[in-house]
Amino acid sequence: MKKYTLGIDVGGTNIKLGLVSSVGKVVSRTCLDTSSFKSNKNKFIQGIALAADELMEETKINRKDILGVGVGLPGLVDPVKGVVNFLPNISGWKNIPFKKLLQDELKIPTVIDNDVNLVTLGEWQFGAGKGYKNFVCITLGTGVGSGLVLNNDLYRGEGNVAGELGHIPINEKGPKCSCGGWGCFESYVGNQYLIEKGSKIFKNKNIQLEDVFNLANHDNVRAVQFWDEVATHTGNVLVGIINLLNPRLIIIGGGVSNSYKYLGATINKIVKQRAMKIPASMVKIVKAKLGDDAGLIGAHVLVKERSR
Ligand SMILES: [Zn+2]
Repeated sequence: MKKYTLGIDVGGTNIKLGLVSSVGKVVSRTCLDTSSFKSNKNKFIQGIALAADELMEETKINRKDILGVGVGLPGLVDPVKGVVNFLPNISGWKNIPFKKLLQDELKIPTVIDNDVNLVTLGEWQFGAGKGYKNFVCITLGTGVGSGLVLNNDLYRGEGNVAGELGHIPINEKGPKCSCGGWGCFESYVGNQYLIEKGSKIFKNKNIQLEDVFNLANHDNVRAVQFWDEVATHTGNVLVGIINLLNPRLIIIGGGVSNSYKYLGATINKIVKQRAMKIPASMVKIVKAKLGDDAGLIGAHVLVKERSR
């Protein structure tokens, strides 16, 4: 029996690869820097294939032990055709037959999907969403996205591109966004924006979000306010989700969710103040459980589903 799946989680900053066991545990992993490939698609595919080979060699897991490869990509992906339509945070990626290219290189059956859909599948089967029929999983990171589980099924939309929560406009004017629109939620809480904002406030060009967590941990008033503003934008968007979809659960994941400690109280306060009473009384807001592995574990869930 084929015991493992190979999960690949492509992010705006790095590409994670992991061999996942049949019980959804990442048994071995490696990581590549996205910026070293993004301008050259062939190099990108070959880089992933090489890293996958090294990972298998290291762990003495052969191709014949691998059921399939699941890849999460940050943007609009057609999982049926296996085509990457558009990645807002990785320029130059338009209408690429990614599934075929990678499958030809790896010689293992491959499936692709939107990265947040995979995080959602992972959290649904093995994490915070276990047992829920109606929930929304949002990720706050370089990109901001969501996966929607409605009536016990992953909702994909008519063209398989539903869930682009980061590109809900929250301001009629607002800054121009990488998606082509303006005033998008992601332009207010995406990592890039937050780092720029943090470097201005704290007058430090090299500031990282972790530094702003640490400052808030030491009760720095401006750092606490910084996270409160992130929570306020997020809370307002969640009010919209709650009123629109009446979910039982909202899971918050992605890198920024590490600061959930500073976000949770404000988000819940806004939901209580602004959302309609009935849907607000039914919803629970929690932090994601699978952390950085969610995408890899979700890739495993997708491969299993497709190979049934
Ligand atoms: Zn946008």
